Amino acid sequence: MERVIIIGSGPAGLTAAIYAARANLRPLVLAGGLYGGQLMLTTDVENYPGFPEGVLGPELMIKFREQAERFGARIENVDVTSVDFMTRPMVVRTDDTASETETVIVATGASARWLEIPGEERLRGRGVSSCATCDGAFFRDKHITVVGGGDSALEEALFLTRFGSRVTIVHRRERLRASKIMADRAVSHPKIDFIWNAIVEEVYGETHVTGLRLRDVPSGARRELQTDALFVAIGHTPNTKIFAEQLDLDERGYIVSPDGSTTNVEGVFVAGDVNDHRYRQAVTAAGAGCRAAMDAEKYLEALEFKVDSLAHL
Ligand code: NAP
Repeated sequence: MERVIIIGSGPAGLTAAIYAARANLRPLVLAGGLYGGQLMLTTDVENYPGFPEGVLGPELMIKFREQAERFGARIENVDVTSVDFMTRPMVVRTDDTASETETVIVATGASARWLEIPGEERLRGRGVSSCATCDGAFFRDKHITVVGGGDSALEEALFLTRFGSRVTIVHRRERLRASKIMADRAVSHPKIDFIWNAIVEEVYGETHVTGLRLRDVPSGARRELQTDALFVAIGHTPNTKIFAEQLDLDERGYIVSPDGSTTNVEGVFVAGDVNDHRYRQAVTAAGAGCRAAMDAEKYLEALEFKVDSLAHL
C-alpha cells in the first residue's frame, strides 16, 4: 500500500513530491501522460524566484522532477482514470493499475479553455491552437490572431512575433486584464496590433484557417478578419472531472478547500491551480504543494498514533 499518491506533476505536484519524499514517504507521482503541467507549454519564466535571468518553463520542470526523484519519489507518466476516496484504503486507478493508498494529494492543475465556436474544433491543429510554443513556428511570415486579454494572451502574442508577419490581439473589452509590464510590452511592440471590444464568433477555413468572423460588441456589427492562425488564450478550466462525485467543487469546478490544503475527504489534500483560480502562479502552486505534503505527513503521523494507541488498549 502507498502512503502518499500525488496526482499531477506541475509545480504543485512535484513540490509535494519533494517534501513527501524528504519525509521518507516514498510518494508515487501519477504524472499524467504529459508530465510537467502548464509550464511545459510556456517559454521564459521571469518571475520564479532564484532565476534572476529567467528560466525556460520546461527546463524548470525538469529541475523539479530531478529534485523529487533524487529524494526517492517514483514518477510515472500515466493518467489517472478514476479514484475511490470513500473506501479505506483509498484506491487510485489508471488504465492498467489500481493502487491503494492512505493519502492522496490532488494537483491536477487546469487546462486551456476554448471559445466553443463553429470551426474551432474542426480546425484545431490546422491553424487553431492554444499553445504558441508548440505551434507558433508553423506560421512563419503569416498573419496570426490571438484572442484574450490576460497575461497568457499577451505572452503568446509576444512570443508569436518571432514568427508571424503581424500579430493581432482580439479582446472582448477595451481594457486588458494582463499585468502592466506585459501590457506595456505588447502595446509598444511594432508587430502587434489590437482589435478592442470584439468577439470571435466563427473560424473560417476548409483545410486550414483562413479567417474569423468578429462581432463588434458596442454596435453588434459583424465583419471578417483574414488570418492564418487563431491562438486561443482565454484562461483555464480546472481538471476535476474524475473527482466530481467525491470532492466538493465550487460553481466553476475548482476543488473547495477551507484552508488551501485539506478537502471534504479526510486524507485527501489539494494543491495548485486545481483549487486556486486567484493567483495561479508557479510559485504559489509550489508553495501549496509544500503545504499539502506537510499536512499529509501530519495526517499520517496522527493516524499511526491512533493505531498505536488502539494497539495498547
Ligand atoms: P486570465 O487572467 O483569466 O485572462 C483570461 C482572458 O481571456 C481575459 O482577458 C478574459 O476577458 C478573456 N476571456 C475569457 N473568456 C473569454 C471568451 N469566452 N471570449 C473572449 N475572451 C475571453 O487568464 P490567463 O491570461 O490565462 O492568466 C491566468 C493567470 O496566470 C493569471 O494570474 C496571470 O497573471 C498568470 N500568468 C502569468 C504570466 C506571466 O507572468 N508571465 C503568463 C501567463 C499567465 P476579460 O478580461 O473580459 O475577463
